[in-house]
Amino acid sequence: MKQANDLKALLVSIDRKGYPAYKETRGIYQFEGYQLSIDHVQGDPFASPSNVSIYIKEKDGGFPEEYRKKKETKIALEDYILRKFAFLLEKYHFKAKGSGKSGLISTSKCGQEILERTACHIKKDTGDMIVRLEIGFPANGRTVNSRELIKIFFDFLPDCVEKSLFYKSHKEDEVREIIELAEDQQYMREQLKELGLCAFVADGSILPRESGVSSKPMRGAVPFASPQSMRVVLNLPHRGKITGMGMKKGIVLIIGGGYHGKSTLLRALELGVYNHRKGDGREYVVTDETAVKLRAEDSRSIAGVDISMFINHLPNKKNTLSFYTKDASGSTSQAANTVEAMEAGSALFLIDEDTSATNFMIRDELMQRVVKNNKEPITPFISRVGTLYEKFGISSIIVAGSSGAYFHVADQIIQLDCYEPFDVTEAAKKEAKQFPIVADLDNHCEKPEFHRCPKPNMALKKADRVKVKVMGRNSIQIDKENVELRYVEQLVDGEQLAALAYLLKYAQLKIMDGKKTLSQVVNELEMIMEKKGMEALSDASYLPMALARPRIQEVFACLNRYRGWPME
Ligand code: ADP
Ligand code: MG
Repeated sequence: MKQANDLKALLVSIDRKGYPAYKETRGIYQFEGYQLSIDHVQGDPFASPSNVSIYIKEKDGGFPEEYRKKKETKIALEDYILRKFAFLLEKYHFKAKGSGKSGLISTSKCGQEILERTACHIKKDTGDMIVRLEIGFPANGRTVNSRELIKIFFDFLPDCVEKSLFYKSHKEDEVREIIELAEDQQYMREQLKELGLCAFVADGSILPRESGVSSKPMRGAVPFASPQSMRVVLNLPHRGKITGMGMKKGIVLIIGGGYHGKSTLLRALELGVYNHRKGDGREYVVTDETAVKLRAEDSRSIAGVDISMFINHLPNKKNTLSFYTKDASGSTSQAANTVEAMEAGSALFLIDEDTSATNFMIRDELMQRVVKNNKEPITPFISRVGTLYEKFGISSIIVAGSSGAYFHVADQIIQLDCYEPFDVTEAAKKEAKQFPIVADLDNHCEKPEFHRCPKPNMALKKADRVKVKVMGRNSIQIDKENVELRYVEQLVDGEQLAALAYLLKYAQLKIMDGKKTLSQVVNELEMIMEKKGMEALSDASYLPMALARPRIQEVFACLNRYRGWPME
C-alpha cells in the first residue's frame, strides 16, 4: 500500500508540469486512520472534477455496530455523517486557487428527505465506510499547481475527515437521536399496516414549505391539528405517545376552499413515502410507502400499456389493450400513469384535481345527456375508484375543490378550513343524497394485463459506450434519448435521476431480453441495488456520478417514459 508521503512526494515532483501529469496520482494511499483513493483524474482543469473516495475501516470509524443492523437506521446514520462531512467541506470549497474548477471540493447535498446515497455508504456486514467526493485538481492555466492540491489532501481533507467520519468526533446523544428518529419513523410505517391506515399526519406537523423553491419548513405556519373523529394515538418506541390524523384505507377526499391548504397536505403525503430529517416539520408524516401521485402528463410517450379499464373505442380505432403513443393526451396520460402505478405495486393513489385531466376524473350529468356514453371513450376514475379498492386493494386520496361528485364514493371526507382539517363526512354525505349521481359507480372491471416484455434498444447494445446525462431534477438522457421525469413528482433529488439513468442503461444492456416482463426486470434491478449496492450499476471501476436510491415505483416510471423502445 502506498503511503500518504508517497503521494506528497509524487505531487511535489509533478508541480508545474503539464496537467496530464496529475493522472499519475491515481491509486490508493494510506493516511492516518483512513485510505484516500484517487479514482479518476480529470483531463483538464475545466473538465468535470476528479473523483476521490475515502475508506474508513470499521475499527477506525468506531460507529456502534447496532446502528447499521437495520436498514432504516443505517441509512439515517449515513445521511447524518454525510451532512456533517458536506458541511465541513463547504469551508474549503475553492479555498485552493487556480484556473477553471481548481479547488472545487464537494460531495452530495442532502435535502429534507433521507435517502440512501452512494456518497456515504457503510457496508452492512463489515461496517467499513466509503465516502465519495469531487475535487478540482488545481492548475495555473493548464499547468499543475500541486502545492494547492497538497493543501487539500494534507490540510483541508484531514480536518473534515477527522471531524465527521469518526464516531469519537460526534456527540453520542446527537447520533442516538438520529437513530431513534429513524426507529420511530419505521415503527409508524409498521403501525399504518396494523391499524388499516394509508397515511398518518402527526399533530403539530408543519406541512407548508418556505417557498416554491425552498423545501425548508415555513416559519409561522399553522401547525397541523387532527379532527377528533380521525385522531389516532401511536406509542412510538422512543418519543412515546403521539397523536395525529389517521387516514383510513379506502377512499379519502380532501375538500375546502381555494388556498386553504389542500395541495400542501397532499404534497406532504406524497413525500411521506420518505423519512424526513429532524426539524423538517414532516418527520412524523408517513404515507404507505408504495403511494404514487397520479396526474395528467400531456405529451408523454406510452408503450404497450393496457389502459382499457379507462379508455376504449378511440375514434382512430387504436387498441387500448396495448396502447402506444408518442404524444399522449391529458386523459390517456393519466390513465397510463394509473395503470402503470398498479403494475408498480402501488396500494395508494394520490390525486390533486389541480393537476388532473378533468375528463379523466368525472363526467357531469349535463354532458352525459348531450354527448352520449357510447360516444365517450373514457370511463372516468370516479367509476373505477371503488373497484380499485374493493377488488385490487388500492386506496385513493383525492383533493377536490370544485366537484362534489366524489362525495358519493368517499369513505372519509376532510375539509380544510384555514389550514385546519375537519371531518365533514356525515354532512357531505347527507347533502350528496339530494344530488343523486348519474355516473355508473358499480362499474366492475378486470385487472389490466401486465405482460409487456421490453426488448432493449439495439443501437444502445451495439454502441461501444453508452453516454448518460442528468439534467438536474427534470430529465435524463441516455444515448441522446431524453427521458422526461419532471412530472414524476415524488422524485426529490437529481441524484435519484442519476441512479435512474444508470438503471435504465443497466436494464437494457444486461437484463432485458424480450422474454422477461417489465416487473421481472425491475425486480432484478432491485435485487442488484439491495445485494450489491448502487455501485454495481456502473461499469467503470469508479462511480462518475453520485447516486441516490429511487423507489421501485420511480424505476417503473422511468422505464415507462423512455422513448427508445423498439416499436412492435
Ligand atoms: P389549496 O390547494 O387549498 O388551494 P395550497 O395548499 O396551495 O391551497 O395552500 C395555499 C397557500 O397556503 C400556500 O402558499 C401554502 O404555502 C400556504 N399554506 C398551506 N398550509 C399552510 C399552513 N398550515 N400554515 C400557513 N400557510 C399554509
Ligand atoms: Mg391546490
